[in-house]
Amino acid sequence: MDAFTLVVVSALASVVMAASMALLYRAAPRQASLRDWAFAGLLFSCNNVLAAVAFKVQLPYLVVPGIGNALYVAAHFGVLAGLRRHLGLAPGWRVMVVVAPLVLGLHAVPALQASVAHRLFVFTPLIAAINLGVGLSLRGRVRRDEWPAYAPLVVMECVFMLQQSMRTIYLFASEDRTLTFMGSQFLQTSGSLFLLLFMVVTPMSCALIVAHRQGLDLRRASLTDALTGWLNRRALQSTADTVFGRCRRDGSGMFFIMFDIDHFKSINDRYGHAVGDTAIRHVTARAGEVLHGHEALFRIGGEEFAVLLAGRRMHDVCAIAERLRERIATMPLRTEEAVVPMTVSVGVAAYGHQDPDWEAVLRRADEALYRAKAHGRNRVDVCNRASAASVGT
Ligand code: GH3
Ligand code: MG
Ligand code: MG
Repeated sequence: MDAFTLVVVSALASVVMAASMALLYRAAPRQASLRDWAFAGLLFSCNNVLAAVAFKVQLPYLVVPGIGNALYVAAHFGVLAGLRRHLGLAPGWRVMVVVAPLVLGLHAVPALQASVAHRLFVFTPLIAAINLGVGLSLRGRVRRDEWPAYAPLVVMECVFMLQQSMRTIYLFASEDRTLTFMGSQFLQTSGSLFLLLFMVVTPMSCALIVAHRQGLDLRRASLTDALTGWLNRRALQSTADTVFGRCRRDGSGMFFIMFDIDHFKSINDRYGHAVGDTAIRHVTARAGEVLHGHEALFRIGGEEFAVLLAGRRMHDVCAIAERLRERIATMPLRTEEAVVPMTVSVGVAAYGHQDPDWEAVLRRADEALYRAKAHGRNRVDVCNRASAASVGT
């Protein structure tokens, strides 16, 4: 394949990158990083089209390599910008508002006009900074088990950096400093081949990152209750299995606090279902303030909740349960029409060595909860195998 054909193929690959990222963005508009990557693809396309035209037509120096290089740096930055947005960081496009014109302006420097080697020597640190940005953005933000989804992009950036450095060293070390791309078949071919590889692998890497994120979102949604944001019953199964296994092995404590809103049906009947929903959210929000730091919070029924605690002592767990009851009882729901007093009944149970599974502990917490109901509601009842006690109000 001659150099012109390679540049045309690279141009086509970058158009495919722009189009595939834009189409993916249409299908998944919440993945905003796809917009950055589509834009990066567009910038690469413009650069590659300019390069292809420059093979056939003599373009002004400021257009090729001037504008071409500015587009190239900005496009490369676009890959980083998308990754940063994906990770919840500011994409930082503003930096390019300064850097891209600067790159263009540097082409006016006589030494850079004369030789490709000098130009590469100036631009390579810019590309290196962008590559470094990719690594630094990922550091500490991606869990170990997530790396396979990000590795292809990182590897691509490293390969690209390697190729860029090798070209710079080769050109700089060569005797003839005025050597140009157009004059060197080797440089043209190797450069275009690497760019082609980058254009093919980068969009696939970006799509992999997005697919990974969507998988995580889907999994999170399947384990989360939409009304309260607390975990659901399905999540309880897997979380409690893990915690139970660990507590059994190391002999640490495992507890369930269960609570249920008192006379909730009458709130629904009196104020309507919508206020009922607000009341459920109110209770979980207040409970969340008390349980701050305990991540295993579950909505296991309509107005029934469970908290899973590990590595604590019964005394502390009872104190938490009592604080929870008190917080809800002293903070009524205030709507536009009314102040709705709310209380909960609470049951607490601890894992005992005789318990064959965590369901046995949960069942006892449920029994304690219903004893609290039977004893007048708005109270905490404690149950464990050794002793059963009540914490009155
Ligand atoms: P108790 O003090 O014995 O717990 O009485 P209760 O009225 O709270 O209990 P009951 O089980 O009789 O009623 C629970 C009600 O909760 C019945 C159901 O319609 C309502 N409910 C369940 N899920 C939701 C929900 O998501 N939103 C609303 N608004 N109501 C719900
Ligand atoms: Mg109830
Ligand atoms: Mg109930």
